Amino acid sequence: MGDRDQERYEGLLAEMARRDPPVRIRSKDTSRGQWLIDRALRLLTLGGQDRYLSDYVTTLGTTIWVPATWAGWSFGSRYKVLRHELVHVRQFERFTWPGMVLIYGFFPLPAGLAWGRALLEWEAYAVTLEVEAEVDGIEAARSPALHDEIVRRFTGPDYGWMWPFEGWVRRRIALTVTSISRRPPMP
Ligand SMILES: [Zn+2]
Repeated sequence: MGDRDQERYEGLLAEMARRDPPVRIRSKDTSRGQWLIDRALRLLTLGGQDRYLSDYVTTLGTTIWVPATWAGWSFGSRYKVLRHELVHVRQFERFTWPGMVLIYGFFPLPAGLAWGRALLEWEAYAVTLEVEAEVDGIEAARSPALHDEIVRRFTGPDYGWMWPFEGWVRRRIALTVTSISRRPPMP
C-alpha cells in the first residue's frame, strides 16, 4: 500500500510537471511573501489561524506552497492534498488571479460569510472525499472524524469562519459520499 501511494504521488508530480505552465511546489519557509501572509492571517483572525506556515498547503496560481515539514508527510497524505490543491489551480485558470482574489477573498465578505470562498473550497473538498475513497476505500470517505474536520474548516477560524452553516456543509458531504458509493469500483 505504501508503494502504491508512492507511485500515485510520483505519477501526479510527473503530470503536474507536464502541464503548461507546470504546477510547481515551493516551500513556504523560503518566501518572505508567505511570511507576510502568515502575519496578516494571524492579525485578521485574531490568532485563530496561526498554522498557515507550519501545517497548511496553499495554492496561488500555479504554485502550490507547502510547509517545511512537507517531505516528511506520507506519500498518501501528500497525494491527497495535491489532488485538493489542483482543484484550486484549475480555479485560478478559470477565474484568473483578480477573479480569485475577489471571489475567494471578498465575496460577499472577507470573513464570517464568505460564500465565494465556501463554494471554491467545497469544490476542492468534494475531491478530497473522492480521493479518500480512491486511496483508502469508501469507508475512509464515510469517516465521521473526516466529516467533522471538514465542517470545522468551513465554520472555524482556519479559513476565516468562511461559512457558519454546518447543515449546508454536512448535506453536501452526505450527497457527495452517496454519489461516490454508487459509482462502480475503479478497475
Ligand atoms: Zn482548499
